[in-house]
Amino acid sequence: MCGHVLLILGVVLALAAASEACVYKYGTSPGSEAPSVSGTSWDYKVMGDDWSGVDGHNKSWSCMSGLHQSPIDLPVSAHIGDPSLISKWSYPSLISNGSNIEVINNGHAIQVEWTSNYEGSMDIVADASPAATITDILSMPDTSEGTKVVTARPLQFHFHTGSEHFMDGDALAMEMHIVSRVPHSEMPGCPEAGCLTVTAVLFKVREGPCNAALKDLFTSLPMEEGTINFLSEGATIDLGKVLPSKEKRSYYQYAGSLTTPPCSEGLLWHVLDEASHISWKQYRALLMAVSDKDCTLKAEDTSKVPRASTGQMQYLRSSGSLQNLHRSHTAQRALRSSLSSSEGMPQYLEVVVSELKSLQRDRQGVLVLQSSAVRHLTAGSDLQKHKDTYVCVAYAYSQNRRLPQPSNDRMIKYFEASKESDMIAEAIKA
Ligand SMILES: [Zn+2]
Repeated sequence: MCGHVLLILGVVLALAAASEACVYKYGTSPGSEAPSVSGTSWDYKVMGDDWSGVDGHNKSWSCMSGLHQSPIDLPVSAHIGDPSLISKWSYPSLISNGSNIEVINNGHAIQVEWTSNYEGSMDIVADASPAATITDILSMPDTSEGTKVVTARPLQFHFHTGSEHFMDGDALAMEMHIVSRVPHSEMPGCPEAGCLTVTAVLFKVREGPCNAALKDLFTSLPMEEGTINFLSEGATIDLGKVLPSKEKRSYYQYAGSLTTPPCSEGLLWHVLDEASHISWKQYRALLMAVSDKDCTLKAEDTSKVPRASTGQMQYLRSSGSLQNLHRSHTAQRALRSSLSSSEGMPQYLEVVVSELKSLQRDRQGVLVLQSSAVRHLTAGSDLQKHKDTYVCVAYAYSQNRRLPQPSNDRMIKYFEASKESDMIAEAIKA
């Protein structure tokens, strides 16, 4: 059975970070720092139709002006791609050692990142010419001539409630995005930070058993914005099994954009045609995690909250800005770290206090903390023990998805999974 997840981690200290820090970290490695300067805040109130703003460098977002935006409504009939150009996924299980897999509620979505090495990869047939980027394959003829295989490594994955891509006019219940990067070293035409490709898996909700591959993850969803849960030791995410089985991995391929501000274009999308499934319980847990809600400290645990001997904590709690940020459900990433007992400060509090010095106010007067500091701050903290400290109640479920964008006659290719070629490949391996 999949447990329900109305209860979340204990909260003692909350640090707010500016919106840029909580934008999904597209284009950065899992261990790297999010952009340090803030841009315009955004939310999903009108599903992206009001996303005009600037990034941290005051550069306008592409959301309202771009001509190759994502998501899109996928057609029943698309150009059939040549089997020699098909992409292949190889995703072993992610296994937790108790501190290497982070489940983050960044205020926009539930996102999973890892700090240890992960061997997952995706082979993509790309244009071999030196100046080519990852999306140029779409304008090439249907032959493997002039192509090469490049490897994309996953950086993170996250979920949208309500699918972002539509299938012939219809949305499904949920969509998962696995964001991967092809390094500049493999494709010199890509920027220094590499080219991005996103694999999208759509989900239906069904009666009955939960999705076992996501079971450990969905019982560890952080309910409050800014919260990070570590998957407990031994917990696994079977990413390969979240995707449909190999012989069902038919997909749409097209060139699009990030589906969140700044909506940068030049991404290669792979949208799998076969839907996966989650249970109602899992679906509700995810809806709860991304909705407006009130979370209350359970009475028996209040004694565990140290009356901070540090002025910094009280300062943060009395600033008011964090609370307002939560109320408005803007995308502020905060970290909430629970302390293990009321007797003395646990080890990692020292880290917390030292990191507080890097707090500043940004242009809107919001307290800002670099995400590198957030990551550092969580290292070694024993959060799992305090899973049940809070109880959350949702006011209303809300969805974190952007509406489909005009396709503008883009090339959309459909690749049919080939049972035979996989069987041959398996036979050769054996
Ligand atoms: Zn996404």
